[in-house]
Amino acid sequence: ATPTALMVGTGRGAQLGILIKGPEVLETTRAVDTIVLDKTGTVTTGRMTLLATHVARGTDAGEVLRVAGALEHSSEHPIARAIADGAREKVGELGVVEDFANLPGLGVQGVVDGHAVLVGRVKLLGEWEIRLPVELERVKAEAEAAGRTAVAVAWDGEARAVLEVADAVKETSAEAVRRLRGLGLTPILLTGDNEAVARSVAAEVGIDEVIAEVMPQDKVDVVKRLQGEGRSVAMVGDGVNDAAALAQADLGLAMGTGTDAAIEAGDLTLVRGDLRAAADAIRLSRRTLGTIR
Ligand code: ADP
Ligand code: MG
Repeated sequence: ATPTALMVGTGRGAQLGILIKGPEVLETTRAVDTIVLDKTGTVTTGRMTLLATHVARGTDAGEVLRVAGALEHSSEHPIARAIADGAREKVGELGVVEDFANLPGLGVQGVVDGHAVLVGRVKLLGEWEIRLPVELERVKAEAEAAGRTAVAVAWDGEARAVLEVADAVKETSAEAVRRLRGLGLTPILLTGDNEAVARSVAAEVGIDEVIAEVMPQDKVDVVKRLQGEGRSVAMVGDGVNDAAALAQADLGLAMGTGTDAAIEAGDLTLVRGDLRAAADAIRLSRRTLGTIR
């Protein structure tokens, strides 16, 4: 491709809400055959809300919210924000946090009002040999089957509650997936969230292939594995935990509404956080390079 054509393509990209790091990016874009889509914040809005608090027998819901809300207040994860905001709305004052640790892809841990607290995946509780009572197991299964995320709360060695958090699929995501398919790309949904939630979101937007329960540091390996199968892989993401995968992908597309780490790692930025711009970018590169050959 001539430099002029690439410059024109880059300019047209800006009009479409696509920021391109350099003209050479258009060359890679054209060859892509697989597109890996992060779930939270990419296919979904990432703006989660706390829908319900289900407590174990003998546990007070207000206390659960004071404790879990306090701990999540220290985390920037969309799930954490939903819990902290929801808790503050319902109980007002939150507990006092003395110790805090963020456990990427798992949840948060700390000391609140003198209790050793865990908030996050059931897997996180499992690491401390804490199991959900049957009634909370059932709540969790029902929530996940409906596409909601179940967040477990435990303190002092016992599971106390399951919080239901939900995130809406972006209105534009289904159309974006249709257009990406129209361009001959295979979409794959990639997430740290569990299989049931991932399947439910995938079904809603028309994706067949799901890779779920992937730890943040393992997302990059998923991209490598797909490349090892001879695929040319685009990855779209928004989070800090997507940055390495975005850098590894043949083409990294960052949501402009996402974190700086993702934007720095990507080759392209979808300024408005609209996934349809991913399809525009690929069409643009094929056109730009097609006209000059
Ligand atoms: P995604 O890949 O969908 O962006 P993450 O890798 O950030 O998700 O997180 C994976 C899962 O870990 C979440 O779906 C949630 O169940 C759990 N999790 C992560 N951080 C938190 C947190 N701060 N509070 C509660 N749960 C969390
Ligand atoms: Mg994300």
